[in-house]
Amino acid sequence: MKKILTIGRYFKSKFGQRVRKIPISLEGFTCPNIDGSVAKGGCIYCKNESFSPSIAKITPLNSTAITMNFKMTQNPLLEQQIKSLKEQFQWHSQFHKDKFEIRKYMVYFQSYTNTYAPFDTLKRLYEEAIILPNVVGMSIGTRVDCIEDRVLDLLEKYVKDGKEIWLEYGIQSVYDKTLKITNRGHLTEGMEELFVKTRQRGVKLCAHLIYGLPNESPQMMIHSLQTILKWGIDGLKIHPLYVVADTQLAKIYQAGNYTPIELEEYADLIVESMQLIPPDVVVQRVSAGAHDETLLAPKWCFDKNIQMRYLRDRLRAVGIEY
Ligand code: SF4
Repeated sequence: MKKILTIGRYFKSKFGQRVRKIPISLEGFTCPNIDGSVAKGGCIYCKNESFSPSIAKITPLNSTAITMNFKMTQNPLLEQQIKSLKEQFQWHSQFHKDKFEIRKYMVYFQSYTNTYAPFDTLKRLYEEAIILPNVVGMSIGTRVDCIEDRVLDLLEKYVKDGKEIWLEYGIQSVYDKTLKITNRGHLTEGMEELFVKTRQRGVKLCAHLIYGLPNESPQMMIHSLQTILKWGIDGLKIHPLYVVADTQLAKIYQAGNYTPIELEEYADLIVESMQLIPPDVVVQRVSAGAHDETLLAPKWCFDKNIQMRYLRDRLRAVGIEY
């Protein structure tokens, strides 16, 4: 039986105990694809709160008019952001300690683009995060067009200090035509170089892919995976594209111009993908969904537990344990 290196197995082998990623969402952070810097309107499927509902319950996202970007010379929200970081960490870590007896944590800057802010702000926030109690490292979600070399240098310093540092890059597809249709605001150019630069510094790289993007065939989705494996990754997240209300994709879907991926087809792709994954790549996620009324389609994305049970069964049938 081939055993997939899940994030739980990886943490256990590396730290000798369970480690929980603590999702953090900070006021003022946004995305250059939303604020008009690279494109307007964001990715066609984007409704950021739906990707991190647990956070949205604690902190309303962007309840301030001030938003981060690279050009800001001063950040009036900084002290508030640090306070919020500590509060969110405290709440989540206490919860996981009380409920699951988990005692080690990684700070996970999850929502929006977490390197899209003035360098001094990032430095201060990362430095505050890394010294929180029982924190073994950080994972930072971002876009491939939002990483400055000095941020990579800073993260390398934490790696040298023995911290576990991950960057999570939203890749979604390696096809420029798909990136254009989905309004990603960037193309694939420069991605491979960025992968190399990131990993050369000892920073671990988790790539995100989406299966079921408009006009993509199963062969294209598998080709995206093969391409990023060739570029070199340490971790992977795959999720099905689902349609959430009040997005551009919702309009396209309601007009009859987008057909969501079926569960069977998605499962076939996950089976094929897991057969391709080398044993040292950490598979952090293969499912996703929106467990509320905002989910328009496909309906099988409503319950991640049912989704995972089915995917695990399908994988087990071909000798893969997830
Ligand atoms: S890059 Fe992420 S946050 Fe930005 S618009 Fe796309 S999905 Fe939304």
